[in-house]
Amino acid sequence: MRRARIAIASRVLETAGASLVFGGGDVDPTGFVFRIPRRFDAPPDHFSLKCPPEDFRENSPDGVRRKEYNPAFPEVAVKRWIVLLTILCSSVCGWTQVIDRSVPGTLQVATFIRAGVLIDGVSNSPRRNQVITIRAGRISDVSDAGNARIPAGVAVIDLSEATVLPGLIDAHTHIFLQGEDPAEGGYDVQLLKYPLAFRAARATVSVRRALEQGFTTLRDMETEGAGYGDVGIKQAIEGGYIPGPRLFVSTRAISTTGGYPLEGYAPEIEVPKGVQIIDGPVEARKAAREQLDHGADWIKVYMTHRSWVRNNGVGKNAELVSQPTLTVEELRAIVNETHGWGKKVACHAYSGEGLQRGLDGGCDSIEHGLVLTDAQIAQMIRQGTWLCPTLSVYYIDWAPADTPDGQRDRKRASEHEVSFRKALKAGVKIAFGTDIGGIPWSQPIAQEFPRMVEFGMTPMQAIQSATSRAAELLEMKGQLGVIAPGAYADVVAVSGDPLADVKLLENVGFVMKNGQVFKNEIGSNR
Ligand SMILES: [Zn+2]
Repeated sequence: MRRARIAIASRVLETAGASLVFGGGDVDPTGFVFRIPRRFDAPPDHFSLKCPPEDFRENSPDGVRRKEYNPAFPEVAVKRWIVLLTILCSSVCGWTQVIDRSVPGTLQVATFIRAGVLIDGVSNSPRRNQVITIRAGRISDVSDAGNARIPAGVAVIDLSEATVLPGLIDAHTHIFLQGEDPAEGGYDVQLLKYPLAFRAARATVSVRRALEQGFTTLRDMETEGAGYGDVGIKQAIEGGYIPGPRLFVSTRAISTTGGYPLEGYAPEIEVPKGVQIIDGPVEARKAAREQLDHGADWIKVYMTHRSWVRNNGVGKNAELVSQPTLTVEELRAIVNETHGWGKKVACHAYSGEGLQRGLDGGCDSIEHGLVLTDAQIAQMIRQGTWLCPTLSVYYIDWAPADTPDGQRDRKRASEHEVSFRKALKAGVKIAFGTDIGGIPWSQPIAQEFPRMVEFGMTPMQAIQSATSRAAELLEMKGQLGVIAPGAYADVVAVSGDPLADVKLLENVGFVMKNGQVFKNEIGSNR
């Protein structure tokens, strides 16, 4: 019935000199744009009947020049009224299902995606030959191709030769870091010499890189001295000014005196810090309040800082040691304040006392978790604490093996593997995270998948850690990280079978965010 109504309404509109618009901003014969991304990938509430601003007219992301409504041209204006009257008539006549009313002021019908193989982010087995229906930036239906009736003449994105997945989620990124290449001045130069605008410009490139690789959501784990720059980048993405994933930001992060770079300068010189420094529960709570007030979605806390191998790596006691930072009381003040705002606390913690304080103080997620004891794993399961392991970043830039730093680098990686395997076996909740930014943004984010599989996850578990599990961490279960009715239409696709070779996820060929196609190198349109 619904299909028939769509067909009828389609014909009525065509009679009126218009055409329905499917997908991301096509143009009808009158020059009237029904639905157009305001700039690059504006969210659904930015779709409107207004013309986009001048700067976008000849620079659309898909290279398609769009005609726009010109109010000074009477013929077009008349046709506009015909179309609007038709819409009004269709609703009176009961064709309400044709037009999506969830977005005020828009006329929108469905986009259809044919998926050869669908990994939906939740189910443990893929499904073949599915059709995904998208309306107003959300998935409205997923069904077997045999049962799905796609109206004749509508645009369909054909990914029947590809594997379709939910948009990927990286739950630990640093859009304001650029790999800290020592040859380019390392970490310190970014805080000492680069204007914030320069860093923001590079962050703009970082978020675009993430989206190009199919990561439609990031939890960004602090700006490393760039203040509230992440809030600004998020605003620019949401406003449609720049392309990028949806961001969950943590702003400045919190540590204690002696607990974060810049360091190693003469004590007489005051240098900037990569985080907000607090000492005592009062300052801790105040810092959390400030950051939440200025737009933090998460609060990031460093529970450990320096790490080294005891006894120069010799003998039984040669374990990895981490310097603890906040006390349990300081952390509790932050957690209490943040939970009061309905937000959550992510804790960078490597091992030992600092990691234990993180668990005792009520952290919602342990970042890295290089050394997890059996008791700590049991406590994480009891408390529902997430682990965001970020494995890959501990395999780059190792110092020479015969140096203390080299021993530390190798110890971190070897301990991490043991902890990851134990946590996985015990059933700790694990979310995909990379620490990219610590890794240069020129490298593939998806390099974390094969590492997770190497250390015991099935490819499906690794994919779910970057889809439905990460969405759960973000309290977006059912809305992100899943291809199912009601979820945001964040959809990606790869050629081949990532369950057979998880490395294929490094080559995402199709990216849709909020129902808007950002990249399509593998799917044909008809
Ligand atoms: Zn990090």
